[in-house]
Amino acid sequence: SLTGRSLAEAAIDRAHKQKHLNAFTYICSKKDVERQLGEGSPKDLPLNGIPIAVKDNFCVKGMPATCGSKMLHNFKPPYTATVVQKLVDAGAVVLGKTNMDEFGMGNGTVDSIFGPTRNIWGLEKFMKDYSLPDWHVPGGSSGGSAVAVSAGICFAALGSDTGGSTRNPASYCGVVGLKPTYGLLSRFGLIPLVNSMDVPGILTRTVDDCALIFNTIKGFDDKDSTSVQHGLNGKKVETDDNTKVAGIKIGMPSEFFSHEMSPEVVECWKEISTLLKSSGAVVDEVSLPHTSYSIACYSVLNPCEVASNMARYDGLRYGHRTSKPESLRSTEALYAQTRHEGFNDVVRGRILTGNYFLLKENYEKFFCQAMKVRRLICQDFENVWKAGTELLLTPVTLTAAPTYSEFIKWDNRKQSSVQDYCTQSANMAGLPAISIPIKLNTTGLPLSVQLIGPKFSEELIFQVAKFIEASS
Ligand code: GLN
Repeated sequence: SLTGRSLAEAAIDRAHKQKHLNAFTYICSKKDVERQLGEGSPKDLPLNGIPIAVKDNFCVKGMPATCGSKMLHNFKPPYTATVVQKLVDAGAVVLGKTNMDEFGMGNGTVDSIFGPTRNIWGLEKFMKDYSLPDWHVPGGSSGGSAVAVSAGICFAALGSDTGGSTRNPASYCGVVGLKPTYGLLSRFGLIPLVNSMDVPGILTRTVDDCALIFNTIKGFDDKDSTSVQHGLNGKKVETDDNTKVAGIKIGMPSEFFSHEMSPEVVECWKEISTLLKSSGAVVDEVSLPHTSYSIACYSVLNPCEVASNMARYDGLRYGHRTSKPESLRSTEALYAQTRHEGFNDVVRGRILTGNYFLLKENYEKFFCQAMKVRRLICQDFENVWKAGTELLLTPVTLTAAPTYSEFIKWDNRKQSSVQDYCTQSANMAGLPAISIPIKLNTTGLPLSVQLIGPKFSEELIFQVAKFIEASS
């Protein structure tokens, strides 16, 4: 339809005008929009022409899927991820693919073959003074998706979240970011990082928009072996405009206080707890004693799953293949050289570490031990839910968005341990969590809070998030 087409075409123009943000790795042509709109026959579809951006680790037929890596620079998947297909079936237009840290390993969208993505917040200051070639990082690894939404280029974007990769950029960019319950959104067509923790994430400007996209893409998928059969009993979540929080039991986990947390983040967290209290919610301090081990636990489990997931990039079946003649000596040589050229040092480092942890003599000591710690982390959450807590209120990140030059002084491990501090444990336990923008700090950068709930508590999460959004 005409309106559908003009909505999508305007978004393409905006994406091109904002090229300096480097949010996209691929932008559709207008012809492509035509093709996408032609596919769905009825014109009164709910999302008709609504432009959506998709992180570059989802497969969308006819578009590249690079994962920000040289390894997949030439890869065009022959199929479309289920969550993307559901959006397309509802009339949405996939505007393009968004930038990310290579294979989702990172927190700043700084490690991509396409170069770093820039946060729009605070950018003006740097643009005025070209002697400062700097900007604030958008967070990551779904930084391109967060920027595409916060810059107003598209209505919503898909990200992915394994340790915080949707919520962390949402927080730095001042948009809403949902990590749903594990298994509620299909992972089919999402190129894996850590299969047991990966979920598609949703980035939007408002909580209602997030609920709309969530309702459109959730549901069982027999193409994903970990998809849940009867999640939410197939019902849509409802968000009404007059939510009351009176009587709702909210927990503030004391372990989430970190000495590295900036005073403005702590203050923002307390402000929202006071708001909820004064509106009749019962806010109490709770304890999740093992969550502080979740980063250490992740730093074992992530490389182990990475080592096995990355084995498929062999230079033979698809993706990058070295052109060095000496690599033709043996398959082994071809494999090694291809992977040396195709992966950045973060990815190669994790493959090595993972294989070390999985050695016969180390398996018990590292992998099995980490699995036990993971169970304790899950148990901590179970205990607070059993004791009556309905939702947890925490910060998302420890600080507002750092500048690029500050950020890259840290190595990737340090980046993750700081950035994922408040978000990681929800992935360990498969719980839903949302990042809600609250306000700007004194230098004009967004500050956010996080709500974490029991499995399948998305409706309550949206309701309380909406209340916070409307009151702050
Ligand atoms: N910091 C995590 C990592 O680098 C982020 C993972 C994610 O959520 N994609 O592995």
